[in-house]
Amino acid sequence: MSGSLFDDAKQRLEQALKYVSISEDAIEHLKYPKASLTVSISLRMDDGSLRIFQGYRVRYDDTRGPTKGGVRFHPNVSLEEVQSLAFWMTFKCAVLNLPFGGAKGGITINPKELSKMELERLSRAYIDAIADFIGPDIDIPAPDVYTNSMIMGWMMDQYSIIHRQITPAVVTGKPLSRGGSLGRDTATATGAFYTIETIMPKFQAKPQDTTVAVQGFGNAGAEIAELLCKTGYKVVAVSDSQGAIYAKKGLDIPSIRKYKEAHRGMKAIYCQGTVCNIVEHEVLSNGELLNLDVDILIPAALENQITAANANNIKAKFIFEVANGPISSAADKILDAKGIYVVPDILVNAGGVTVSYFEWVQNRSGLYWTIEEVNQRLKQKMVEETKQIWQIAQEQAISLRTAAYVHGLNRLGEAIDGKGTRD
Ligand code: GLU
Repeated sequence: MSGSLFDDAKQRLEQALKYVSISEDAIEHLKYPKASLTVSISLRMDDGSLRIFQGYRVRYDDTRGPTKGGVRFHPNVSLEEVQSLAFWMTFKCAVLNLPFGGAKGGITINPKELSKMELERLSRAYIDAIADFIGPDIDIPAPDVYTNSMIMGWMMDQYSIIHRQITPAVVTGKPLSRGGSLGRDTATATGAFYTIETIMPKFQAKPQDTTVAVQGFGNAGAEIAELLCKTGYKVVAVSDSQGAIYAKKGLDIPSIRKYKEAHRGMKAIYCQGTVCNIVEHEVLSNGELLNLDVDILIPAALENQITAANANNIKAKFIFEVANGPISSAADKILDAKGIYVVPDILVNAGGVTVSYFEWVQNRSGLYWTIEEVNQRLKQKMVEETKQIWQIAQEQAISLRTAAYVHGLNRLGEAIDGKGTRD
């Protein structure tokens, strides 16, 4: 699999090894996923026909606790992509010091083509197929690209039916009425916001003088754009899968969100409208958005958006990775040489899994927190770990990405060595 996404992901591990003193055993252990499951999922379509889709669940490492990670419904999902995402989850959970290992799941499908009934049958069939692989103390799924709280509710319900026991802690990101946590839907963006607000003051950057471009207008992208806009940052460009819009004076993000919401389309699950149809703005391609001369660039869509092929064109001064894996390791070197600060995914987007952890804790204790409690605990964790990573980067004169891996590796290495070598 040379040159693959997974090999590229592991490059970051290699780069961090020089700066840690963890055992050879731990390093070897971290190079392979613990278990990978591939399943064929039969879906009865509304027209009566039967279609089979490939599904995956990868548990990467469970030394620090039950494995944790989202489930993605997307046409490009592959086993290798899921393995890479599970690898990143392992480091993300360690960086935030959550008592979890890393996992990920996915189905290779375009969910926008499904009716709500088909989507529900698909979600339940996926849980039927992976039920023995997951559990509140084994592996806990959550939302990811093109999955949401409604889908998590169905998944939790299906697991509860199989086990004949209501089991809310088996899935996080559920609807509030089904054991979800306040603040989980906005947690990825809120966590990213706390990281941005911890780092930018170090450069005496004031929000009103800071321009921002956000790639991706899903759960994380739209929310971070709105949070920054409301705090006074000038969000000049946003995009969705169809393309981007740009306005030099800044965009009115809440009204763009309302526009998208109003164009949900017949099926009401996925937005059918695109930001590009808002005629008063200049329309760009997703690639052009990445090249804009802005202070902050926020990739909040899919992996491998900035590679050796386009890294030289990037003009932003800071990149905060809200997506998982948007920058390839070859691009990292180019951006580094250009003096661009890249704040890595395993820190920036960790707010989602952090509030997932809070949801799991609430499900198990039966005591539910206020939004203030959730956000105050999230802020405390994001700010603390951001500061520690910043300090490691300064002390060792390394990039923030390598520092984040060093931080996670120290915790993982200690746990793996503490566990012994039985598996
Ligand atoms: N899918 C999210 C991520 O990539 C959240 C995972 C979770 O909450 O378990 O971090």
